[in-house]
Amino acid sequence: MSKEELLAIVPCHRKPERCLKINGKPMALCARCTALYSSYLLLPFLYFVPQLHSLAIALLLQLPMLADGLSQKWKWRESTNPLRVVTGTMSGVGQCLFIWFIADWLSKALS
Ligand SMILES: [Zn+2]
Repeated sequence: MSKEELLAIVPCHRKPERCLKINGKPMALCARCTALYSSYLLLPFLYFVPQLHSLAIALLLQLPMLADGLSQKWKWRESTNPLRVVTGTMSGVGQCLFIWFIADWLSKALS
């Protein structure tokens, strides 16, 4: 499987103007998706911060990306790549915390 075929299965609009650039060339994923998927690398480290394994925190961290993405989709405003990176990272961390919340809950429910 080539790199292009592998990346094709990752959901992303890939609009070049919304991608971070390396040496002037747009990355394969948009700024938001790059930040979101990259933040999944934090998942194992968040194990050591059980105070953050909260459903409320996980959901709250989704709000900035929803506000940024939806306000842009509804053409109220145009986002920027730095903002897409920040909100994508927050969302990705929130998704990691959601996974730990579920893991903790399952661990307690099954013991
Ligand atoms: Zn994307």
